[in-house]
Amino acid sequence: MIDARRKACLEAMGIDLWLVRRTPAARALASEAGAQPGTAGEQPRLDVPGDTTSHLRSDVPRDTPAAGAAAPAALAAAVSSPPAAADPARLDWPGLEARVAGCTACPELAARRSRTVFGQGRYDADWLLIGDAPGVEDERQGEPIVGQAGRLLDNMLRAVGLARGQAYIANILKCRPPDSRELRPEEAVACRGFLDRQLALVQPRVVLVLGQIAAQNLLQTDAHLARLRGRLHRLGAQAIPVVVTYHPADLLRSPADKAKAWDDLRLALQASEGRLPEPDPNPDP
Ligand code: SF4
Repeated sequence: MIDARRKACLEAMGIDLWLVRRTPAARALASEAGAQPGTAGEQPRLDVPGDTTSHLRSDVPRDTPAAGAAAPAALAAAVSSPPAAADPARLDWPGLEARVAGCTACPELAARRSRTVFGQGRYDADWLLIGDAPGVEDERQGEPIVGQAGRLLDNMLRAVGLARGQAYIANILKCRPPDSRELRPEEAVACRGFLDRQLALVQPRVVLVLGQIAAQNLLQTDAHLARLRGRLHRLGAQAIPVVVTYHPADLLRSPADKAKAWDDLRLALQASEGRLPEPDPNPDP
């Protein structure tokens, strides 16, 4: 059996009944509610790309946010401008947030923003969620992934036993692209140092990447979401587990994908608890 709150969360995602292996905290909550442990379903396969995350290795200079990265062709062609934000690798949280607030590395974004959207959540969170860029409402509130998509994200987190405040949420970009356009590769490169520093400060047990744009920029790949989700990636010298899933805004448009998003959440939960699936002996070429 699952408790009523979790059942309501799952229903909010369009899933009738999900049973999940819980985090210790979630097990404690479930125990208080008198619930019995659930079981996890089929495990997605493990895939660890060899060179997609070299930009976070400690032996790579951090003079620029994406130093040493094996950028995809479109990204490499765009790196010339604007300049990367000044190296933030030694900043603490207040210093980093202040640096972001004053950043003008992307002239168009800096001129048109009403505020930066730095990030939100626990500084020592086990889960670090990464979206692509702030939207209008995110900028207005100064928080990442709010509004209707944010409420769905809250339900997704509750389904794995987390409140929003227990995770840390950030975006690839800290400034909203105008006119609802997608972020540009050169903007992602310019802003990468800030995200890398957030990753280094939080030191999460798992990174959950929300949507194809965020995943392509974080993992430095041109692969589509369908090839990126359902498997584990690794990030940096510490080989932080990375799981790619749908952005909640995409799930609002395509509710049928919620079941696949749940598979991704289960994989992320396993990774956060150190319960990694065995590598697939016959991975895709
Ligand atoms: Fe600076 Fe990032 Fe904003 Fe660009 S998006 S101006 S790098 S804070």
